[in-house]
Amino acid sequence: METRKKKKWLLMILVFVVLGVLGGAYYYQKQSVKIKPMKTFRWLGAFWFNEQGMFKFEETHLKFYNPKTGNKVIACSRAGCEHTTKDCPATYMSLGITYTDEGMIFFGEPKNMEFDEKGLYIINVEGKHLKQLHLFKGVSEISDVFYEGSKVYISYRNSIDKEGNDLDQPEVGIIEYDIDTNKERKLFQEKKGNPQIMTMNRNKSGLFFVYLYSTMSAEEALEHAEDNEYAKKHQHIELRYIGLNGKKASCVCDNMYSFNCIPVLNQKAVVCKEDGVYLCTEGGKTEKILSGKWESIPFYRNGKEGLLLRTHEKRSKDEKVEYAYYKTEKSSKKTLYSKHVCLSVVGENAWFMDEEGMMYYGSASEFVNGKEIEEKNFKEKR
Ligand SMILES: [Zn+2]
Repeated sequence: METRKKKKWLLMILVFVVLGVLGGAYYYQKQSVKIKPMKTFRWLGAFWFNEQGMFKFEETHLKFYNPKTGNKVIACSRAGCEHTTKDCPATYMSLGITYTDEGMIFFGEPKNMEFDEKGLYIINVEGKHLKQLHLFKGVSEISDVFYEGSKVYISYRNSIDKEGNDLDQPEVGIIEYDIDTNKERKLFQEKKGNPQIMTMNRNKSGLFFVYLYSTMSAEEALEHAEDNEYAKKHQHIELRYIGLNGKKASCVCDNMYSFNCIPVLNQKAVVCKEDGVYLCTEGGKTEKILSGKWESIPFYRNGKEGLLLRTHEKRSKDEKVEYAYYKTEKSSKKTLYSKHVCLSVVGENAWFMDEEGMMYYGSASEFVNGKEIEEKNFKEKR
Protein backbone atom coordinates (compact mmCIF):
# COMPACT_ATOMS: atom_id res chain seq x y z
CA MET A 1 0.00 0.00 0.00
CA GLU A 2 2.76 2.38 0.99
CA THR A 3 4.75 1.85 -2.21
CA ARG A 4 1.68 2.31 -4.33
CA LYS A 5 1.02 5.66 -2.67
CA LYS A 6 4.62 6.66 -3.27
CA LYS A 7 4.37 5.70 -6.94
CA LYS A 8 1.26 7.78 -7.30
CA TRP A 9 3.04 10.79 -5.82
CA LEU A 10 6.04 10.30 -8.07
CA LEU A 11 3.73 10.14 -11.04
CA MET A 12 1.99 13.33 -9.99
CA ILE A 13 5.30 15.14 -9.58
CA LEU A 14 6.34 14.00 -13.03
CA VAL A 15 3.07 15.27 -14.47
CA PHE A 16 3.65 18.65 -12.81
CA VAL A 17 7.14 18.88 -14.27
CA VAL A 18 5.96 18.00 -17.77
CA LEU A 19 3.00 20.36 -17.59
CA GLY A 20 5.19 23.04 -16.10
CA VAL A 21 7.33 22.85 -19.20
CA LEU A 22 4.22 23.05 -21.37
CA GLY A 23 2.93 26.01 -19.38
CA GLY A 24 6.35 27.59 -19.71
CA ALA A 25 6.13 27.22 -23.46
CA TYR A 26 2.94 29.28 -23.42
CA TYR A 27 4.57 31.99 -21.33
CA TYR A 28 7.63 31.98 -23.53
CA GLN A 29 5.34 32.51 -26.48
CA LYS A 30 4.24 35.90 -25.07
CA GLN A 31 6.72 37.96 -27.05
CA SER A 32 6.12 36.41 -30.43
CA VAL A 33 3.57 36.98 -33.14
CA LYS A 34 0.00 35.70 -33.21
CA ILE A 35 -0.32 32.13 -34.33
CA LYS A 36 -2.54 30.83 -37.07
CA PRO A 37 -3.68 27.28 -36.41
CA MET A 38 -4.34 24.99 -39.33
CA LYS A 39 -6.38 21.93 -39.90
CA THR A 40 -5.60 19.16 -42.31
CA PHE A 41 -6.63 15.63 -43.17
CA ARG A 42 -10.23 15.57 -42.06
CA TRP A 43 -10.65 11.84 -42.62
CA LEU A 44 -8.04 11.08 -39.96
CA GLY A 45 -9.15 13.60 -37.39
CA ALA A 46 -8.03 17.13 -36.66
CA PHE A 47 -4.45 18.32 -36.41
CA TRP A 48 -3.93 21.82 -35.05
CA PHE A 49 -0.46 22.98 -35.98
CA ASN A 50 1.23 26.13 -34.75
CA GLU A 51 4.78 27.44 -34.41
CA GLN A 52 5.35 25.82 -31.00
CA GLY A 53 3.93 22.40 -31.78
CA MET A 54 0.76 20.54 -32.57
CA PHE A 55 -2.52 19.82 -30.79
CA LYS A 56 -4.52 16.71 -31.57
CA PHE A 57 -7.50 15.24 -29.80
CA GLU A 58 -6.84 11.54 -29.22
CA GLU A 59 -9.50 9.25 -27.80
CA THR A 60 -10.38 11.06 -24.57
CA HIS A 61 -7.86 13.91 -24.25
CA LEU A 62 -6.27 16.72 -26.21
CA LYS A 63 -2.55 16.01 -26.64
CA PHE A 64 0.28 18.46 -27.25
CA TYR A 65 3.16 17.34 -29.47
CA ASN A 66 6.23 19.35 -28.52
CA PRO A 67 9.14 19.25 -31.00
CA LYS A 68 11.35 21.18 -28.52
CA THR A 69 11.34 18.23 -26.11
CA GLY A 70 10.31 15.43 -28.50
CA ASN A 71 7.46 14.59 -26.10
CA LYS A 72 3.74 14.17 -26.46
CA VAL A 73 1.77 15.15 -23.33
CA ILE A 74 -1.79 15.72 -22.20
CA ALA A 75 -2.52 19.38 -22.99
CA CYS A 76 -3.46 20.44 -19.47
CA SER A 77 -1.32 22.65 -17.26
CA ARG A 78 -3.69 22.83 -14.30
CA ALA A 79 -1.84 22.17 -11.04
CA GLY A 80 -3.05 19.02 -9.33
CA CYS A 81 -5.21 17.90 -12.23
CA GLU A 82 -5.17 14.15 -12.77
CA HIS A 83 -7.01 14.52 -16.10
CA THR A 84 -9.61 11.97 -15.04
CA THR A 85 -12.55 14.27 -14.35
CA LYS A 86 -14.79 16.19 -16.74
CA ASP A 87 -13.41 19.55 -15.57
CA CYS A 88 -9.93 18.78 -16.97
CA PRO A 89 -9.53 21.21 -19.91
CA ALA A 90 -7.84 18.51 -22.02
CA THR A 91 -11.10 16.52 -22.06
CA TYR A 92 -13.23 19.26 -23.65
CA MET A 93 -10.84 21.31 -25.79
CA SER A 94 -11.28 19.69 -29.16
CA LEU A 95 -11.56 22.12 -32.05
CA GLY A 96 -10.03 25.34 -33.38
CA ILE A 97 -7.25 25.31 -30.82
CA THR A 98 -4.88 28.24 -30.69
CA TYR A 99 -3.37 30.52 -28.09
CA THR A 100 -2.61 34.16 -27.37
CA ASP A 101 -0.89 36.07 -24.56
CA GLU A 102 -3.94 35.44 -22.39
CA GLY A 103 -4.19 31.69 -22.77
CA MET A 104 -5.66 29.04 -24.96
CA ILE A 105 -8.60 29.72 -27.25
CA PHE A 106 -10.74 26.85 -28.46
CA PHE A 107 -14.16 25.51 -29.35
CA GLY A 108 -15.53 22.89 -27.02
CA GLU A 109 -18.43 21.79 -24.94
CA PRO A 110 -17.56 22.19 -21.26
CA LYS A 111 -21.19 23.01 -20.47
CA ASN A 112 -24.47 21.52 -21.55
CA MET A 113 -25.56 23.21 -24.73
CA GLU A 114 -28.36 22.91 -27.26
CA PHE A 115 -27.67 20.63 -30.23
CA ASP A 116 -27.23 23.67 -32.48
CA GLU A 117 -24.99 25.78 -30.23
CA LYS A 118 -21.19 25.97 -30.13
CA GLY A 119 -19.09 27.92 -27.65
CA LEU A 120 -15.78 29.71 -28.18
CA TYR A 121 -13.71 29.77 -24.98
CA ILE A 122 -10.54 31.05 -23.43
CA ILE A 123 -8.70 29.46 -20.52
CA ASN A 124 -5.60 30.96 -18.91
CA VAL A 125 -2.11 29.44 -19.08
CA GLU A 126 -2.57 27.70 -15.72
CA GLY A 127 -5.66 25.95 -17.05
CA LYS A 128 -7.95 28.09 -14.88
CA HIS A 129 -10.61 30.79 -15.31
CA LEU A 130 -12.53 29.27 -18.17
CA LYS A 131 -14.49 32.02 -19.91
CA GLN A 132 -16.96 31.85 -22.75
CA LEU A 133 -16.04 34.43 -25.39
CA HIS A 134 -19.01 33.77 -27.62
CA LEU A 135 -21.94 31.45 -28.18
CA PHE A 136 -22.68 30.59 -31.81
CA LYS A 137 -26.36 29.79 -32.25
CA GLY A 138 -27.83 27.80 -35.13
CA VAL A 139 -24.58 25.86 -35.58
CA SER A 140 -24.76 22.10 -35.07
CA GLU A 141 -21.51 20.93 -36.74
CA ILE A 142 -18.36 22.98 -37.34
CA SER A 143 -16.39 21.85 -40.41
CA ASP A 144 -13.48 24.30 -40.35
CA VAL A 145 -12.06 27.10 -38.20
CA PHE A 146 -9.32 29.62 -38.74
CA TYR A 147 -8.12 32.79 -37.02
CA GLU A 148 -6.94 36.02 -38.60
CA GLY A 149 -5.86 38.68 -36.09
CA SER A 150 -8.77 39.11 -33.68
CA LYS A 151 -11.23 37.45 -36.06
CA VAL A 152 -12.45 33.86 -36.06
CA TYR A 153 -14.00 32.27 -39.15
CA ILE A 154 -16.08 29.15 -38.85
CA SER A 155 -17.84 27.09 -41.48
CA TYR A 156 -20.76 25.02 -40.29
CA ARG A 157 -23.34 22.50 -41.41
CA ASN A 158 -26.82 21.91 -40.00
CA SER A 159 -28.15 18.59 -41.17
CA ILE A 160 -30.52 17.51 -38.40
CA ASP A 161 -33.55 19.00 -36.69
CA LYS A 162 -34.34 19.19 -32.96
CA GLU A 163 -35.57 15.60 -32.90
CA GLY A 164 -32.42 14.35 -34.62
CA ASN A 165 -34.09 13.71 -37.99
CA ASP A 166 -32.07 14.28 -41.16
CA LEU A 167 -33.02 17.42 -43.11
CA ASP A 168 -33.70 17.02 -46.84
CA GLN A 169 -31.79 20.17 -47.60
CA PRO A 170 -29.07 20.71 -45.02
CA GLU A 171 -27.77 24.24 -44.51
CA VAL A 172 -24.14 25.31 -44.62
CA GLY A 173 -22.67 28.68 -43.83
CA ILE A 174 -19.70 30.81 -42.83
CA ILE A 175 -19.64 33.12 -39.80
CA GLU A 176 -17.10 35.79 -38.92
CA TYR A 177 -16.72 36.68 -35.26
CA ASP A 178 -14.48 39.46 -33.95
CA ILE A 179 -13.16 38.74 -30.43
CA ASP A 180 -12.15 42.41 -29.87
CA THR A 181 -15.48 43.99 -30.80
CA ASN A 182 -17.74 41.00 -29.93
CA LYS A 183 -19.44 41.31 -33.32
CA GLU A 184 -20.75 38.33 -35.26
CA ARG A 185 -21.85 38.35 -38.90
CA LYS A 186 -22.92 35.68 -41.33
CA LEU A 187 -20.94 35.84 -44.57
CA PHE A 188 -22.54 32.92 -46.35
CA GLN A 189 -25.60 30.70 -45.90
CA GLU A 190 -27.16 28.22 -48.31
CA LYS A 191 -29.42 25.16 -48.38
CA LYS A 192 -28.44 22.49 -50.87
CA GLY A 193 -28.33 18.73 -51.45
CA ASN A 194 -25.67 17.19 -49.21
CA PRO A 195 -23.60 20.39 -48.88
CA GLN A 196 -20.25 20.68 -47.13
CA ILE A 197 -17.71 23.49 -46.74
CA MET A 198 -14.39 21.68 -46.65
CA THR A 199 -11.79 24.36 -46.04
CA MET A 200 -11.36 28.15 -46.07
CA ASN A 201 -8.60 30.72 -46.40
CA ARG A 202 -8.42 34.50 -46.67
CA ASN A 203 -6.81 37.07 -48.87
CA LYS A 204 -6.84 40.84 -48.28
CA SER A 205 -10.47 41.49 -49.23
CA GLY A 206 -12.30 38.22 -48.96
CA LEU A 207 -12.49 34.54 -48.34
CA PHE A 208 -11.92 31.51 -50.57
CA PHE A 209 -13.72 28.30 -49.63
CA VAL A 210 -14.16 24.82 -51.06
CA TYR A 211 -17.83 24.00 -51.45
CA LEU A 212 -19.18 20.52 -52.17
CA TYR A 213 -22.82 19.85 -52.96
CA SER A 214 -25.07 17.61 -55.00
CA THR A 215 -27.87 18.56 -57.37
CA MET A 216 -29.52 15.19 -56.78
CA SER A 217 -32.76 15.17 -54.81
CA ALA A 218 -33.17 12.80 -51.86
CA GLU A 219 -35.48 10.59 -54.00
CA GLU A 220 -32.97 10.50 -56.85
CA ALA A 221 -30.21 9.59 -54.41
CA LEU A 222 -32.25 6.60 -53.20
CA GLU A 223 -33.20 5.59 -56.72
CA HIS A 224 -29.59 5.69 -57.96
CA ALA A 225 -27.93 4.47 -54.77
CA GLU A 226 -25.92 1.84 -56.69
CA ASP A 227 -25.01 4.13 -59.59
CA ASN A 228 -21.75 5.93 -58.77
CA GLU A 229 -21.59 7.60 -62.17
CA TYR A 230 -25.01 9.18 -61.66
CA ALA A 231 -23.97 10.57 -58.26
CA LYS A 232 -20.67 11.81 -59.70
CA LYS A 233 -22.46 13.67 -62.50
CA HIS A 234 -24.48 15.58 -59.92
CA GLN A 235 -21.61 16.22 -57.52
CA HIS A 236 -20.11 19.73 -57.60
CA ILE A 237 -16.75 20.73 -56.15
CA GLU A 238 -16.38 24.48 -56.37
CA LEU A 239 -13.95 27.07 -55.17
CA ARG A 240 -16.01 30.05 -54.12
CA TYR A 241 -14.95 33.54 -53.19
CA ILE A 242 -16.86 35.94 -50.98
CA GLY A 243 -15.93 39.57 -50.43
CA LEU A 244 -15.82 40.82 -46.84
CA ASN A 245 -17.80 43.85 -48.00
CA GLY A 246 -20.96 41.75 -48.19
CA LYS A 247 -20.72 40.82 -51.87
CA LYS A 248 -22.38 37.52 -52.82
CA ALA A 249 -20.26 34.38 -52.98
CA SER A 250 -19.32 33.45 -56.54
CA CYS A 251 -17.80 30.31 -58.03
CA VAL A 252 -14.28 31.13 -59.23
CA CYS A 253 -13.09 27.63 -60.13
CA ASP A 254 -14.54 24.12 -60.17
CA ASN A 255 -13.77 20.42 -60.70
CA MET A 256 -11.04 20.39 -58.11
CA TYR A 257 -9.15 17.18 -57.68
CA SER A 258 -7.78 17.72 -54.19
CA PHE A 259 -8.92 20.18 -51.51
CA ASN A 260 -6.91 19.40 -48.42
CA CYS A 261 -6.14 23.10 -48.04
CA ILE A 262 -6.30 26.26 -50.15
CA PRO A 263 -2.99 28.12 -49.92
CA VAL A 264 -3.18 31.82 -50.77
CA LEU A 265 -0.12 33.29 -52.51
CA ASN A 266 -0.03 36.95 -53.48
CA GLN A 267 -3.87 37.22 -53.07
CA LYS A 268 -4.46 34.20 -55.34
CA ALA A 269 -5.74 30.76 -54.33
CA VAL A 270 -3.83 27.63 -55.26
CA VAL A 271 -6.09 25.00 -56.82
CA CYS A 272 -5.20 21.37 -57.53
CA LYS A 273 -7.04 19.96 -60.54
CA GLU A 274 -6.79 16.59 -62.28
CA ASP A 275 -4.32 17.91 -64.90
CA GLY A 276 -2.27 20.28 -62.77
CA VAL A 277 -1.96 23.09 -60.26
CA TYR A 278 -3.45 26.53 -60.94
CA LEU A 279 -3.35 29.96 -59.40
CA CYS A 280 -6.83 31.47 -59.24
CA THR A 281 -7.69 35.14 -58.69
CA GLU A 282 -10.76 36.30 -56.74
CA GLY A 283 -12.26 37.23 -60.12
CA GLY A 284 -11.88 33.68 -61.41
CA LYS A 285 -8.83 34.08 -63.71
CA THR A 286 -6.68 30.95 -63.65
CA GLU A 287 -3.09 30.28 -64.63
CA LYS A 288 -1.51 26.82 -64.70
CA ILE A 289 1.79 26.59 -62.84
CA LEU A 290 2.44 22.84 -62.76
CA SER A 291 1.25 19.68 -64.55
CA GLY A 292 0.26 16.41 -62.92
CA LYS A 293 -1.70 15.28 -59.87
CA TRP A 294 -0.75 17.11 -56.71
CA GLU A 295 -2.13 17.92 -53.27
CA SER A 296 -1.29 21.13 -51.43
CA ILE A 297 0.01 21.02 -47.86
CA PRO A 298 -0.30 23.81 -45.25
CA PHE A 299 2.96 25.75 -45.26
CA TYR A 300 3.63 28.75 -42.97
CA ARG A 301 7.07 30.10 -42.16
CA ASN A 302 8.12 33.52 -40.82
CA GLY A 303 4.47 34.61 -40.82
CA LYS A 304 4.11 33.87 -44.53
CA GLU A 305 2.31 31.23 -46.49
CA GLY A 306 4.33 29.24 -49.02
CA LEU A 307 3.45 26.53 -51.48
CA LEU A 308 4.28 22.89 -50.87
CA LEU A 309 2.68 20.22 -53.06
CA ARG A 310 2.83 16.49 -52.56
CA THR A 311 2.71 14.23 -55.60
CA HIS A 312 -0.30 11.99 -56.08
CA GLU A 313 1.31 10.00 -58.87
CA LYS A 314 1.78 6.33 -58.03
CA ARG A 315 5.05 5.28 -56.40
CA SER A 316 6.47 2.00 -55.20
CA LYS A 317 6.37 1.27 -51.46
CA ASP A 318 10.02 2.02 -50.66
CA GLU A 319 10.26 5.06 -52.85
CA LYS A 320 10.54 8.45 -51.17
CA VAL A 321 7.63 10.88 -51.27
CA GLU A 322 8.14 13.67 -53.80
CA TYR A 323 7.15 17.31 -53.34
CA ALA A 324 7.20 20.50 -55.39
CA TYR A 325 8.10 23.57 -53.36
CA TYR A 326 7.78 27.26 -54.30
CA LYS A 327 9.02 29.87 -51.87
CA THR A 328 6.84 32.55 -53.47
CA GLU A 329 4.51 32.72 -56.45
CA LYS A 330 7.43 33.90 -58.62
CA SER A 331 10.09 31.41 -57.44
CA SER A 332 11.04 28.44 -59.56
CA LYS A 333 10.02 24.93 -58.51
CA LYS A 334 12.24 22.93 -56.20
CA THR A 335 11.89 19.15 -55.78
CA LEU A 336 11.99 17.77 -52.23
CA TYR A 337 11.79 14.27 -50.80
CA SER A 338 10.87 12.66 -47.47
CA LYS A 339 10.57 9.17 -46.03
CA HIS A 340 7.11 9.65 -44.48
CA VAL A 341 4.22 11.70 -45.79
CA CYS A 342 4.50 15.39 -44.94
CA LEU A 343 1.35 16.85 -43.32
CA SER A 344 2.51 20.43 -42.96
CA VAL A 345 5.45 22.77 -42.46
CA VAL A 346 4.99 25.39 -39.76
CA GLY A 347 7.69 27.68 -38.38
CA GLU A 348 10.82 25.64 -37.73
CA ASN A 349 9.12 22.25 -37.96
CA ALA A 350 8.17 19.91 -40.75
CA TRP A 351 5.52 17.36 -39.71
CA PHE A 352 5.22 13.83 -41.07
CA MET A 353 3.03 10.79 -40.57
CA ASP A 354 3.52 7.11 -41.34
CA GLU A 355 0.93 4.56 -42.49
CA GLU A 356 0.00 3.69 -38.89
CA GLY A 357 -0.72 7.34 -38.07
CA MET A 358 2.49 7.87 -36.03
CA MET A 359 3.73 11.46 -36.06
CA TYR A 360 7.29 12.54 -36.86
CA TYR A 361 9.01 15.91 -36.97
CA GLY A 362 12.13 17.35 -38.53
CA SER A 363 13.89 20.59 -39.38
CA ALA A 364 11.82 22.72 -41.76
CA SER A 365 14.83 24.62 -43.11
CA GLU A 366 16.75 21.43 -43.90
CA PHE A 367 13.66 19.98 -45.55
CA VAL A 368 13.02 22.97 -47.82
CA ASN A 369 16.73 23.18 -48.64
CA GLY A 370 16.49 19.70 -50.12
CA LYS A 371 18.57 17.96 -47.44
CA GLU A 372 17.88 14.42 -46.34
CA ILE A 373 16.37 15.06 -42.91
CA GLU A 374 16.02 12.93 -39.84
CA GLU A 375 12.32 12.30 -39.16
CA LYS A 376 12.07 11.85 -35.38
CA ASN A 377 9.11 10.38 -33.52
CA PHE A 378 7.55 11.52 -30.22
CA LYS A 379 7.76 9.88 -26.82
CA GLU A 380 4.53 9.75 -24.87
CA LYS A 381 4.92 11.22 -21.35
CA ARG A 382 2.28 10.73 -18.70
ZN1 LIG B 1 -6.06 18.00 -16.58
